[in-house]
Amino acid sequence: MPRWTDPGDGSCDHCLAWANDRAKLCIGCYGWRRDHPTTADCQRCRRHLPLRADLCRFCTLVLRENETDISRAALAGGD
Ligand SMILES: [Zn+2]
Ligand SMILES: [Zn+2]
Repeated sequence: MPRWTDPGDGSCDHCLAWANDRAKLCIGCYGWRRDHPTTADCQRCRRHLPLRADLCRFCTLVLRENETDISRAALAGGD
């Protein structure tokens, strides 16, 4: 697994959000990992993280936002 993520400056190791107190994971990802303890390669970002339906929390949140954005635009490719 390539370590291209840098957990050094207090950002969440999973979703890259800025967490307080140099926490390894933000509250959201901590709960996510607790609820989804099985890790694998995310189908979208390819990082090795706890997944739900083949997506990590970060990608699940991104797709959820996009889902509302494209709800009136049919299937516009995606990534
Ligand atoms: Zn996080
Ligand atoms: Zn992902």
